[in-house]
Amino acid sequence: MAQIYTSSKIPQTKPDRDTLPEGTNLCDYCNGKCCRYFALAIDAPTEWADFENYRWYILHEHAAIFTEDDSWFLLVTTKCKNLGDDNYCKNYEHRPDVCRIYSTERCEYEDNWVYDKLFDDSEQLYEYAEALLGPKNGAPLRSQR
Ligand code: SF4
Ligand code: SF4
Repeated sequence: MAQIYTSSKIPQTKPDRDTLPEGTNLCDYCNGKCCRYFALAIDAPTEWADFENYRWYILHEHAAIFTEDDSWFLLVTTKCKNLGDDNYCKNYEHRPDVCRIYSTERCEYEDNWVYDKLFDDSEQLYEYAEALLGPKNGAPLRSQR
């Protein structure tokens, strides 16, 4: 049987950032996690048309939608073309501003975080919409078909 973890029990495979010697570069212990995806803020869906668009988004490979504090985001898990095999930026001098303002102080180095909501399957999002809005176009609930 698969092990079930609560958020506080998800195993941390990296050393705790607080235990690293002063002056240590946190990125030396990371696989370039922040360079392996991008996330875009999207409007919280309020009607079926929104959900249908979002279902289309996540029908694509490597795309998912997550929420955090009632904000919605499109997540695309894809490696930046500038990320080298050593997990460092190959074009550091010319990296975009979004990379320049990002710092290890508040980065997602830790692996023990969870999403508020995560949708990585269009059927799952459909069922969530149905629970929230009721049947689409007055159709019966899919669970009753
Ligand atoms: S900034 Fe944080 S998440 Fe990004 S590579 Fe460094 S340690 Fe990893
Ligand atoms: S440009 Fe460099 S720092 Fe920015 S995401 Fe790509 S590899 Fe990471």
